[in-house]
Amino acid sequence: MEKRTELYRGKAKSVFMTDDPDRLILLFRNDTSAFDGQKVEQLDRKGMVNNKFNAFIMQKLEAAGIPTQFDALLSDNECLVKKLDMIPVECVVRNYAAGSLVRRLGIEEGLQLTPPTFELFLKNDALHDPFINESHVYAFGWATPEQLARMKELTFKVNDVLNALFDDAGLMLVDFKLEFGVHQGEIVLGDEFSPDGCRLWDKATRKKMDKDRFRQGLGNVIEAYEEVAQRLGVPL
Ligand code: ADP
Ligand code: UDP
Repeated sequence: MEKRTELYRGKAKSVFMTDDPDRLILLFRNDTSAFDGQKVEQLDRKGMVNNKFNAFIMQKLEAAGIPTQFDALLSDNECLVKKLDMIPVECVVRNYAAGSLVRRLGIEEGLQLTPPTFELFLKNDALHDPFINESHVYAFGWATPEQLARMKELTFKVNDVLNALFDDAGLMLVDFKLEFGVHQGEIVLGDEFSPDGCRLWDKATRKKMDKDRFRQGLGNVIEAYEEVAQRLGVPL
């Protein structure tokens, strides 16, 4: 597989064309950002840890019947994926209250949400990823009702698979964000699943083991990611 020109440079990953028009290379960088890119730092090993973590999770999800972009690990920092037409909508499931839900609704952090909530955000840095609802998705043509229904179904299926996986590793899956795209007419899970895009707390101590360590300046960010990986059995 030949790496060609850079198609897009995001806040944490770079996306490259390949000699196959249907495949892209995702390069996971060490750049770590929060608050819409206002706080940015380079964290040693982050690109490698997230690339391998994402590969491990995507393969678990694929094995559970969830269509994903993932093809193969190419190097410590790169993987090969299907080229998707990305849908600019972030799907967020919450099993426990944290982050923007706590700020917006004045809920106590850590409250268990039964059933889990499902929220949509527009992927738009300039607008700070605003909260949206299903009617916005249809009115602005970001996805059809059928596509959104499938995204919601797959997001809850991911929640079921990963709740079990993290629970076995002594971790609580507090919340997470997914992005989907279209590949050959089908809704497929894209982007990444890593501690950058979810919240994971130790079950016994409720210690934060995800990007909140960076957002909140708690330190030992990558050490926590590595501990999560080690508990799951992700080969680093
Ligand atoms: P951001 O755009 O939020 O700064 P990243 O740094 O993670 O995020 O950049 C990765 C970009 O690549 C995102 O815009 C994401 O939507 C896009 N992307 C992820 N997976 C795919 C894929 N399989 N096909 C096409 N684009 C993808
Ligand atoms: N999230 C993400 N990218 C975003 C926004 C949110 O990966 O652009 C993840 C975030 O890490 C958390 C979940 O989605 O796991 C819910 O985030 P929330 O709405 O609480 O926003 P935050 O307070 O993290 O900005």
